[in-house]
Amino acid sequence: MSRRRKVGEASQRIYGDFADGIRFRNAEMRRQLLGIRWRLDGSCVKHDVALWFTERTKPNGRVLAMCRECPVRRLCLASSIAYAEEFGVWGGYTPPKREGMIHTARQGIPVDLIVESVLDVEAERRATAS
Ligand code: SF4
Repeated sequence: MSRRRKVGEASQRIYGDFADGIRFRNAEMRRQLLGIRWRLDGSCVKHDVALWFTERTKPNGRVLAMCRECPVRRLCLASSIAYAEEFGVWGGYTPPKREGMIHTARQGIPVDLIVESVLDVEAERRATAS
């Protein structure tokens, strides 16, 4: 039997345990985040991943713009919170900007609720600025 896995099979694997205290209201989001299939739909998938993991404190504007328009942005940001990712830009947010979200999630506030409110506030800010 071949040891190579097809992309579809690989995407079904369990990614890992969520950080302590992580909860979801939305069971479907939780299920999706236990796998990696959603990542294949990310706008960044065909780009150099190093752009998302720069040492610079201010990320590349192109990277942030791509995240803002990404079809899996909610899942991406939720994943970074649920797995307490320390590095890289996820969902258009840098590690310092995600710290508070991760802290809040570890207090038992559902990850999907945090993502919704963060993106709502961002949308309001953008609407007010324009
Ligand atoms: S939100 Fe950004 S980092 Fe996340 S999958 Fe989309 S483009 Fe990639």
